[in-house]
Amino acid sequence: MHIPGHLAVALAEHRLLTRFGPDKQLPLRPLLLASYFPDVVDKTIGYVFHLMPNGRHFAHNIFALFGLSLAVTLMWGSAAGRAWFMGYLGHLLADDVRQVPWFFPVKAYHFYPGKLKFKLKQLAREMIFLAIVLLIYRLEPG
Ligand SMILES: [Zn+2]
Repeated sequence: MHIPGHLAVALAEHRLLTRFGPDKQLPLRPLLLASYFPDVVDKTIGYVFHLMPNGRHFAHNIFALFGLSLAVTLMWGSAAGRAWFMGYLGHLLADDVRQVPWFFPVKAYHFYPGKLKFKLKQLAREMIFLAIVLLIYRLEPG
């Protein structure tokens, strides 16, 4: 999934959690930042610095999810930590879950070489998805 899709998932999560969940005051900013943080980290390491063969490794696992959520909680409080956790978890679940190395580095994974590429049809679908979610997000009172 590309960034527009991850942002759409994060906005939908935020709307659903604040509307129907127990956490009506969940802050949006950390949830949005966490929704694309794993790709910023791992794709930079993999495709810019070429230190890993692809773009899903150090930040795409449960240890990064829980560790970074704990760090955000300690630095900015529990509401920010909960929002970060939900945004981050949404990212990992929205990725192709078969390609997420959930238990790296504890479990060994074979990282197939990848390339940073944008699939135009998928990008267009995600932009439409984001536009629909933004419209619903703006129409629904928070
Ligand atoms: Zn990802």
